[in-house]
Amino acid sequence: MSDQHLIWLALCTFLVLLMQAGFTCYEAGLVRNKNSVSVAIKNVADLGTTLFMYMLVGHALMFGAGWQGVIGWGPSVLIDGEPGALLEALFQAMFCGTAITIVAGAVSERTSFAGYLLLATTMSVLVYPVSGHWAWAEDGWLRAMGFHDFAGSSVVHAVGGAIALAAVLKIGPRLGRFDGPGRPIDGDNLAVSALGAVLLMFGWFGFNSGGATDFERQVPLVLVNTAIGAAVGIVAIIVLAWLRGRKPLATDILTGMLGGLVAITAGCAVVRPLGAMALGVLGAVVAVGGVRLLERLRIDDPVGAIPVHLFAGVVGTVLLPAFAMPETIPPLLDGRLEWIGVQLLGAGTIALFAFGGAGAVLVLASPLVKFRVAPEDERIGLNIAEHGAGSAMVDLLHQLQQQGEQGAFSVPVEVEQETDAGHVAYFYNQVRERFVRETERNRELLEEAAYLAHHDPLTRLKNRRAFMATAGEVMAIAKRYGVKAALVVLDIDHFKAINDTYGHAAGDAVLRELAGRLTGVARATDTVARLGGEEFAVLLNQATLDDAMAATERMLTAIRRAPFEVSSGEHLTVTASLGVADLSAHDDVDAALKAADDAMYAAKRGGRDRIEVARTPMVRPADIRSAG
Ligand code: GH3
Ligand code: MG
Ligand code: MG
Repeated sequence: MSDQHLIWLALCTFLVLLMQAGFTCYEAGLVRNKNSVSVAIKNVADLGTTLFMYMLVGHALMFGAGWQGVIGWGPSVLIDGEPGALLEALFQAMFCGTAITIVAGAVSERTSFAGYLLLATTMSVLVYPVSGHWAWAEDGWLRAMGFHDFAGSSVVHAVGGAIALAAVLKIGPRLGRFDGPGRPIDGDNLAVSALGAVLLMFGWFGFNSGGATDFERQVPLVLVNTAIGAAVGIVAIIVLAWLRGRKPLATDILTGMLGGLVAITAGCAVVRPLGAMALGVLGAVVAVGGVRLLERLRIDDPVGAIPVHLFAGVVGTVLLPAFAMPETIPPLLDGRLEWIGVQLLGAGTIALFAFGGAGAVLVLASPLVKFRVAPEDERIGLNIAEHGAGSAMVDLLHQLQQQGEQGAFSVPVEVEQETDAGHVAYFYNQVRERFVRETERNRELLEEAAYLAHHDPLTRLKNRRAFMATAGEVMAIAKRYGVKAALVVLDIDHFKAINDTYGHAAGDAVLRELAGRLTGVARATDTVARLGGEEFAVLLNQATLDDAMAATERMLTAIRRAPFEVSSGEHLTVTASLGVADLSAHDDVDAALKAADDAMYAAKRGGRDRIEVARTPMVRPADIRSAG
């Protein structure tokens, strides 16, 4: 190998390696972020396994001395290869890597790492070198028939696409893609995919021209044809979309570009640039049309690998004779039509062999390895499920999920500052704080409402309802255990006059002060309540009538003790009339209350500012009933 050739081959090897970067970006951008690391790592990992396996075993199978033109055989190039042969093998290994990595995008977002690596490794040994031998080895049977695939539209791209087709048919569509209502699943980073497409094109120059043997004649033509294939692929899809009055979809433009590149790959050394234009347009249209077709067939290929590599690859291979320069028609063939027939046979058998080989491995290995991840892992995303690769956003989602499940909204979520997730977290925390404040306010309002159901807002004493309920309980206990209890009703004297003379606010102040004085002389077990207006009641628990009299005296004294302050510095004398009844002597609270009320009115009639005791019923209605 001449120095010039060596340098060129090394350069092309590096360029084909760069296509791996292109595929990685292209595919990572077309999946959802939760799977971007997974698909990128599949691309890197299969590069490792295929480069190694191809050079160790595959290269001998592909280019070794053949058996009937069907398969090669020989010692591994790694053992006794000359320097030139080693570089040749490395260059070819990059091609193998390209064919296999095509599969990673098609099966992305639901395929297990282990299952994918098993498929990738077996394909790089069992399938790629075998069909490659047919087309490219000295004695390959397809080559002998005049089959022409200069840089691998079929040998590399259709093989990768056909393996991908077998894999997606076996593994099935992503959750939610076609089941239930079914929905398109958009990639999260098409800008990165666009970068990947350009990287692929960059690498493609090496991919297509690395195999040139006649530098001066072949390389310039191949480079130009390659560029044209990509260019017309891009333009064709944009123009087609506009002609049909549609928006040129970003994914379609990228698909068209790659379709054009794949289609020109087989014929890049035998067509003139005008022919490259035709093949590029055909490749682009077939690739974009193929994406629609797969969708209709409910075959889920998230990155369009099958239409781009299998469909455009086959079309580019089969139709290249139509545009080939006349002097390139194989002499053993009887014109272009026969050539097309040979191309069809070649592309067809290669694709079918790859499809069948992949299918066999997928079926035979499925008891050993799970090709598809569990639905739960698919939902979480393979970044985390398969590679433990979290992110600030994942961390945030995790915290949000926990808050949602535990209702623990009082603690702010924490995330990396100055990341997208950090900004979301910042605003979430603001919303959360507001929510916590509102919830607290609502809780206070509810508590207040519950309080007001049983209390009087002005004096904060129990209201009539709560008083009656407590009195009922006290009465029941008193009757059961034979203890005494009493009831006092109190009404302020001439209260209307206080209101009329000093104003309503002064009246309120009197009511509040009176409430305070009554509570001050009551025992802890007593209940002071405001029955309504200027009428109060006190329930005296475990009190005989004598005890009750003493307590009522204390109340009267407390009222008489000093004038009431109604506003700063303004005082007035207040009196009240009180009626006492023996609670335990009555049948029910209403009766006892009425008795106390009657007594209070008696006190009013008796001149006010005094106490009157209710006459205890000598014969209780219940006794009459039981006697009768
Ligand atoms: P008596 O000595 O016979 O009890 O005469 P009185 O003026 O105290 O009784 P009356 O029932 O005629 O008047 C009660 C007044 O209490 C009438 C009403 O305007 C007033 N009142 C009722 N509730 C409130 C209140 O919450 N605040 C104030 N300031 N006044 C009230
Ligand atoms: Mg009154
Ligand atoms: Mg009154």
